[in-house]
Amino acid sequence: MSAHRPRSEDFGAQLSFDRGTPGRRAVDVPSWDGEQTPLPDAHLLRDEVRLPELSQGGLVRYYTALSARNYGIDSGTYPLGSCTMKYNPKVDDLVASLPGFATAHPQSPPEEAQGTLRTLLELRRGLAEITGLPHVSLAPAAGAHGELAGVLMITRALEDRGELETRRRILVPDSAHGTNPATAAMAGFTVTQIPTGPDGSLDRATIERELDETVAAMMVTVPNTLGLWENGIEEVADLIHEAGAYLYGDGANLNAIMGRVRYGDLGFDVVHLNLHKSFSTPHGGGGPGAGPVCCSEELAPYLPTPVLEEDEDGLVRLVAPERSIGRLQQFHGNVGVLIRAYAYMRALGLEGLRAVSGQAVLNANYLRVLMHGHYDLPYDRPVLHEVVFSGTRQRREHGVRTYDIAKRLIDHGFHPPTVYFPLIVEEALMIEPTETEPPEAIEALAEAMIAIAGESAEDPDTLHGAPWTAPLGRLDEATAARRPVLRWQPDEDAG
Ligand SMILES: *Cc1c(COP(=O)(O)O)cnc(C)c1O
Repeated sequence: MSAHRPRSEDFGAQLSFDRGTPGRRAVDVPSWDGEQTPLPDAHLLRDEVRLPELSQGGLVRYYTALSARNYGIDSGTYPLGSCTMKYNPKVDDLVASLPGFATAHPQSPPEEAQGTLRTLLELRRGLAEITGLPHVSLAPAAGAHGELAGVLMITRALEDRGELETRRRILVPDSAHGTNPATAAMAGFTVTQIPTGPDGSLDRATIERELDETVAAMMVTVPNTLGLWENGIEEVADLIHEAGAYLYGDGANLNAIMGRVRYGDLGFDVVHLNLHKSFSTPHGGGGPGAGPVCCSEELAPYLPTPVLEEDEDGLVRLVAPERSIGRLQQFHGNVGVLIRAYAYMRALGLEGLRAVSGQAVLNANYLRVLMHGHYDLPYDRPVLHEVVFSGTRQRREHGVRTYDIAKRLIDHGFHPPTVYFPLIVEEALMIEPTETEPPEAIEALAEAMIAIAGESAEDPDTLHGAPWTAPLGRLDEATAARRPVLRWQPDEDAG
């Protein structure tokens, strides 16, 4: 483990156990002279419970100090490419926490939950409108979960066509998010990789060569993980359909195109969205999320259960499509996230959603232009929501790696960008400023990145050891992953 640099006034620098003083208490419980509740049998009791002994003030300072060490979107710019760490309006949290939503019981009869169900139905309709794909299930709890739903739907459709035995391959671009090939493999398909051409779009010749009656589907990310528009996607859709296969869309980064381009119009059969990225849910650390799947008429019978529908009496119900792939999780999906998405969509309206995508694209291009020339830019053309630079020049000329650059950015006051992804860009630095950063924040980020490019020439060792200002310095990540120390142990050296 690395050097630990406690500051004497930093209450978070020591564990609560190490800060304890025998006899201190956070609360005083008055003695009780009423009736005593009998204690359980002695063998169920412990003589000693090792708890830190702190005063209430000490405890509050300890947790407050710890909370301030967490860097989040509420603390500053968080340019983690592909993840869309944007600022989410607090009013969406407020709406989701209204007692009518927050206390609704998932097993209430539909007649008693019409408020929540109708809200979800409206969201379903809105997402159908935005994607141009009329049928939607809100059930999946994440992007990867939505992908699995979509590929399982394709599996069932092929089964009904009697072609599941022969169509065993799924084409996946080499720039894809890892969840795409993982999903295809998990659903039992073989993955065929499609290379990216020099312009950052898919290599058409390879697609044409690979397409035959053994292909079940192709998964395409729009906009792609280089932050680029997928040139010729409509022709690719035609080719896929002529070959009898389905076109799956990874719509995780909808914030770049929403209100302007619809997956259904491009020829996609099924797409998942990441509501926690594009539609206002603070996310990170693995949750919470919602990855609805939207699909064409043809694939609608296979959608995961439940699907929201309105009957003739105007009652909203949860139904199971006739050839549904089944349930992906309990109840109706991640409702708190869905309500936030609804609030976000309604607050902005179509014009507002369009303004969001315009701003996302403007911000990413502003950053691209500001940083241009200081880092290599392997696909040098206007981008959509994010821009992927490369640290190869810094590595070649100064022995500084992207990893060092990312760690040094912490010292300059920013959260690092996504690194080493997409895999087709060496020493990748994938930066997404998002639509909610003001110009001065983008300028400050570019300044920091340019300063670091200068430091890599003048003082590479500072980068090799970074970060210097964080509570923990450079970690041995392999040891941390292989021998994690996850809890306090009284007699063990936690180093
Ligand atoms: C984030 C992301 C995913 C995965 O979404 P999760 O919600 O993390 O499962 C898939 N594809 C792309 C392009 C993404 O950015």
